[in-house]
Amino acid sequence: QVRVRFAPSPTGPLHIGGVRTALFNYLFAKKNNGVFFLRIEDTDQNRFVPGAEEYIMEALEWLGIAPDETIGKNEKFGPYKQSERKHLYKQYADELINSGNAYYAFDTAEALDLQRKQHEEQGKTFIYNWHNREKLDTSLVISAAETSKRIAAGEDFVIRFKTPVDETLHLQDIIRGEVKFETNLLDDKVLFKSDGMPTYHLANIVDDHLMETSHVIRGEEWLPSMPLHVMLYRAFGWEAPEFAHLPLIMKPVGNGKLSKRDGDKLGFPVFPLNWKDPISGETSSGYREKGFFPEAVVNFLALLGWNDGTEKEMFSLEELEQAFDLSRVHKAGAKFDPEKNKWFNHQYLMKKDDADLAKSFAPIVAEKGITVSENVLTKIVSLIKERADFVSEFWDLSDFFFVTPISYDEKARKNWKEETPTLMQELISVLGEITDFTAANIETIVKDWMTKNEIGMGKVMQPFRLSLVGALKGPHLFDIVELIGKEETIKRIEKAIT
Ligand code: GLU
Repeated sequence: QVRVRFAPSPTGPLHIGGVRTALFNYLFAKKNNGVFFLRIEDTDQNRFVPGAEEYIMEALEWLGIAPDETIGKNEKFGPYKQSERKHLYKQYADELINSGNAYYAFDTAEALDLQRKQHEEQGKTFIYNWHNREKLDTSLVISAAETSKRIAAGEDFVIRFKTPVDETLHLQDIIRGEVKFETNLLDDKVLFKSDGMPTYHLANIVDDHLMETSHVIRGEEWLPSMPLHVMLYRAFGWEAPEFAHLPLIMKPVGNGKLSKRDGDKLGFPVFPLNWKDPISGETSSGYREKGFFPEAVVNFLALLGWNDGTEKEMFSLEELEQAFDLSRVHKAGAKFDPEKNKWFNHQYLMKKDDADLAKSFAPIVAEKGITVSENVLTKIVSLIKERADFVSEFWDLSDFFFVTPISYDEKARKNWKEETPTLMQELISVLGEITDFTAANIETIVKDWMTKNEIGMGKVMQPFRLSLVGALKGPHLFDIVELIGKEETIKRIEKAIT
């Protein structure tokens, strides 16, 4: 059975890249009738941020990609939070010690820093591994007896993985194909610390094994960890899951990974929901609060690094669940395009029911102290939505339906001819006589009047629009006329010509 996981560390709000990882896992699970689970990787207590875990859950719910199993939900392989599994990991660290795949080390942070510095000064990178140490300085290699003594004396230690020597690993990645690693270039990573906590690497492997993870789908930044992870599975004698490393999400302009700063600079969110950092108090804006539809965010993210092989761009979540295929995920980084992001929102806005959009718009209108029927609001929405990406833009696109303009576009006003007020007076009389005050009928009567009197279109229509809207913009003029009604229309023309 396909079992995939999203395994974030609760160190802050979920970045859009993390959301994309969650989405691809979700889609892969659904496509293969598998299970998508969420595991919270909080072994690094120093980086724990209160509220981050709840944020992650809420974001996935909002996007419609909630996990099948997680904390408090179908806990088949629970607990789903690593800090609550703490008691599990020690035995696995011991197992690796006993099988000769790991060793104790007592280096202080200062000693390691010094080593790193010395290497740097010689233009070399410091690789911490046991065979190098043996070659460099045999006094650094600690005997078993000495090790036991120092542990018993309460000295701080770590357990490190004993990377095999002189091996070339040929590993398979579903997206990248074969990837090669030289074991001599790898650090002996820390697996366990004397505070009783495992590191990410050990906890991740143990849990993926115990939770029967079939595929590890995660960001490319974890590719360098893949050789260690595969060697750990081998050391335990466990079958390793398959791996798929997703391409990075790149900045909209220039090179490099998308960062929060890019969003701040160009004015788009990189987080799904608003976030207030509990320590710094710093706030970050989210897609939800900016007025993005979750379907639009999902659709947009799905295409960051994947397509179905055709030109098709609009995918509902159900369609994605059908179409998604890991083998069609690209290797190259995917450029984040905020304009495209908005474009998707516009597409979904156009698909929405006008009455539903009116319901979202109603509170904004009410806040302005305006009362308007649901029907009228629905009609207004149908006339203006084409020009909007977000419901929050509706007011600026439609304020003239509710309030008489207080000023007029200067340039348009300057174009008024001497005869304009007289023409507008005549227009008022024409309008005053119309009984069936509906857009099509008003249009016919007004146009007949113009034709009969040989009045040019622009001569009437431009000042007419300017009187009603205050600018030469907005939807079809006669739709506006019908909606604001005869009395208000006449009042506005009168106001404009006096
Ligand atoms: N806890 C890791 C993270 O924060 C998980 C990486 C993985 O999926 O193995 O992304």
